Amino acid sequence: MQAVFDGHNDVLLRLWQNEKKGGDAVTEFTEGTHKGHIDLPRAKAGGLAGGLCAIYIPSGDLVLKAPAADGSYATPLSEPLERAPSLDIAMEMASIALRLERAGSWRLCRTMADIDNAMADEKFAAVLHMEGCEAIDADLAALEVFYAAGLRSLGPVWSRNNIFGHGVPFAYPMSPDTGPGLTDIGRELVKECNRLGILIDLSHITEKGFWDVAELSDQPLVASHSNPHALVPVARNLTDKQLDAIRESKGLVGLNFAVTMLRADGRENANTPLSDMVRHIDYLVDKLGIDGVAIGSDFDGALVPQDIGTAAGLQNLIVALQEAGYGGAELAKLCRENWFRVLRSAWHETDSD
Ligand SMILES: [Zn+2]
Repeated sequence: MQAVFDGHNDVLLRLWQNEKKGGDAVTEFTEGTHKGHIDLPRAKAGGLAGGLCAIYIPSGDLVLKAPAADGSYATPLSEPLERAPSLDIAMEMASIALRLERAGSWRLCRTMADIDNAMADEKFAAVLHMEGCEAIDADLAALEVFYAAGLRSLGPVWSRNNIFGHGVPFAYPMSPDTGPGLTDIGRELVKECNRLGILIDLSHITEKGFWDVAELSDQPLVASHSNPHALVPVARNLTDKQLDAIRESKGLVGLNFAVTMLRADGRENANTPLSDMVRHIDYLVDKLGIDGVAIGSDFDGALVPQDIGTAAGLQNLIVALQEAGYGGAELAKLCRENWFRVLRSAWHETDSD
């Protein structure tokens, strides 16, 4: 079994939603459930050793547009969110992450040593991520506080606009060049993340925003859960030019398991073969090299192929990659080592690389 450190999941969103219905997040995660994709028993069964766990403020108005006969669809961007209620929700999700840590259900990792130790102790190695910074104020005061609470990664925007920048809509086929990039405050956010040691995630940002970060940031470029646009032309996927820039910066792309981003027809259909996932990995490895490709499952945030099903089915992908010719050292890079390299760099723990 290959231990997998995964670049993106929404388990905190699912646990938060369950608490709103009267459930208990620690019990649901620790004892397991039939709901969603990730809990402790299923993570153990599938070799999911840890990953970036997102604080994400849901958009109440998000209704994915049904595709036309030719498969095309264009869901409008969700409306911008108010900061105060977003901050409340972000605090509630961060509190779930901290309660899981206090209960010993997972380790909330702030350093690479934390991740190493958690994995050695067979504890789920969670890293706190923020997907869209609606909870952060223009003065970035909340950023300091979330950093102190363990935040070590963020995407300035989700697929909606905020004070930091502009996001891409869910649309097929569509270029990711859908609007403006970072705002002036967004530029300050990038600089502050570089200074504090917070990874900057480029999934969901417009192509202009991508280039703005590429110009400003002193860190490798990372798209935690995106796929190649050449294979599936959704606005959320990355053009070859973007992949070239990521390679140049020694960054990475995490393979998103969302079927709409894996299937050539862009359809929401779980009957999507593992060979589609392998095809994306092959393409990314060709463009980025074996050091630039990783996993970014989007578990608990997307419909995934039925042959994966949940975190418990994660090794099915590894077996498919083995059968496609990937050896042990290559799989170790894809499954975790590439993530560790960019995290070490973003967190200023860099050694030789
Ligand atoms: Zn996402």
